[in-house]
Amino acid sequence: MTKKTFQVPRGTRDILPDDQVYFDYLNSIFKSVVKAAGFRQITTPAFEDTNLFVRGVGKETDIVEKEMYTFRDKSDNLLTLRPEGTAPIVRSYLENGMQSWSQPVKLFYTMPMYRYDRPQAGRYREFWQYGLEMIGDKEPLADVMVISTAQRVYRKLGIGDYISLQLNSIGCQKCRPKYIKELTVYYKNNEKKICASCKNRAETNPLRLLDCKDPKCQPVIEDAPQIINFLCPECHEHFRQVLESLDEINVSYEINPRLVRGLDYYSRTVFEFWAGSDGAQNALCGGGRYDGLVEVFGGKSTAALGFAGGTDRTIEFIKSHPEIEVIYDQKVDVFVVQLGSEARKNCLKLLSSFWDEEVAAEGGFDKEGISGQLSIANRLKAKYALIIGQKEAYDKTVIIKEMASGNQEVYPQDKVVSEVKKRLK
Ligand code: AMP
Repeated sequence: MTKKTFQVPRGTRDILPDDQVYFDYLNSIFKSVVKAAGFRQITTPAFEDTNLFVRGVGKETDIVEKEMYTFRDKSDNLLTLRPEGTAPIVRSYLENGMQSWSQPVKLFYTMPMYRYDRPQAGRYREFWQYGLEMIGDKEPLADVMVISTAQRVYRKLGIGDYISLQLNSIGCQKCRPKYIKELTVYYKNNEKKICASCKNRAETNPLRLLDCKDPKCQPVIEDAPQIINFLCPECHEHFRQVLESLDEINVSYEINPRLVRGLDYYSRTVFEFWAGSDGAQNALCGGGRYDGLVEVFGGKSTAALGFAGGTDRTIEFIKSHPEIEVIYDQKVDVFVVQLGSEARKNCLKLLSSFWDEEVAAEGGFDKEGISGQLSIANRLKAKYALIIGQKEAYDKTVIIKEMASGNQEVYPQDKVVSEVKKRLK
């Protein structure tokens, strides 16, 4: 009888060590950029009360309609695996009394998300996002800070020249209804030219008509009225100031009248960073203002904004451009080579001393000969091989071999850690 083998669930995958290098690279750059801008890390639970997402993401969204991993636990609580980070963070803001902290509260995260999406290239059911939220700031400069922070992350990752910032304003609850009315009338007049889902969207969530991907709907979208022309004076002025400040700090953008978020508590600025020219699988990150969300969750009216970037997708983009140098490989400074049982004991002691000093060190413990172990040191690109043969084990010495030049010197074992540390500086 053959034994059953197991596979990862559809839409998930193992992140193997070679890939982990890219995750570390992205996350370390993301963290250092956002920390410098004053954001502090938050991690929320992997699952939350289902209603948090129903209310916080919205009933008419794809996420809530089709994509949530929802289950009942043994106490009959209805829970959902986190599909996005904003609703949990706003929940945490209120639950932990962050309204009394100095405002704005600036938080960042790198967390896995879960969506029952149709798996394909760049789309998974478990995927990671890096993101940030800035809660308690209504000024256009906050928009500029968030957008330029995202852009700085991409610049530091080495992909700044390959991406474009897509920008739009979707107004506020005062000016948007007039636009929605106009859009709905326009779609009614063009009913015969649109796809079945759009007929539905026109009833439930008209703003989303604009990001339909069906080729049939594209000409209708092209000629649709644009929200920019319906902004109230306050939203118009806010958007003008965002654009002006972006110009001042040389962040280029494209105004994209089709970029929308479908829910009432989203307001004003929305943006995405795209890699390449069309939106489909190429959006690396999306964000914007959600000035109404804190109130939806029972807090007092609080302006807020943020963005979320797709870690997996950003990494895939970096990988598809081999000219982008990923300088975050795990390094090995020292490889300890030994021969004989006494030398093996010395080897372990020596490695422990290096690890105490946080020097990256590895050793060959099996029975391979010296040349076999040296070739491992070579493969790992170790800077130094430390060789302990039978003679050295007896003398309590070690040969330091500089791998690049092949130069060798003998050192007492108790002095070798400080010597190597000095050379590594
Ligand atoms: P969203 O929260 O839908 O605005 O997504 C923000 C970013 O997360 C997107 O721009 C993508 O880069 C990434 N993303 C969203 N859904 C998925 C998915 N199913 N698999 C991988 N990445 C995703």
